[in-house]
Amino acid sequence: MSECIFCKIASGEIPADFVYRNEKVFVIRDITPQAPTHLLVIPTQHVASAAEVSDPAVWAAVMEQATEAARFLNLTEGYRMVINTGAQSGQTVPHLHLHLLSGRVFDWPPG
Ligand code: 5GP
Ligand code: ZN
Repeated sequence: MSECIFCKIASGEIPADFVYRNEKVFVIRDITPQAPTHLLVIPTQHVASAAEVSDPAVWAAVMEQATEAARFLNLTEGYRMVINTGAQSGQTVPHLHLHLLSGRVFDWPPG
């Protein structure tokens, strides 16, 4: 997807702070962090949102890497995973991504 920010990050056209990457997924630090730790786990393949995933391997790669990143960063006090899906949820980038947030207390219910 030529105009997609996360596809441009995947290709190197836009720079990002990569925490991890393999051929299926990459992990970057959010440019506007909402917590002391705020990572984005993003499939390399363009999928517009969670609602558009057709290949379960995409979920496997995203969830596996999210839990692996939490382990690697030793987020033992807890963390929150968020996948905004669609305009009303707050999704602003139409390329599937999981937010991994940690380092503070999170309210429930979420805003
Ligand atoms: P959404 O609102 O779609 O759930 O999340 C999109 C996230 O992507 C936001 O938290 C936003 O700060 C982050 N973001 C948008 N553009 C960039 C960028 O160019 N680089 C990085 N690292 N994060 C970005
Ligand atoms: Zn994309």
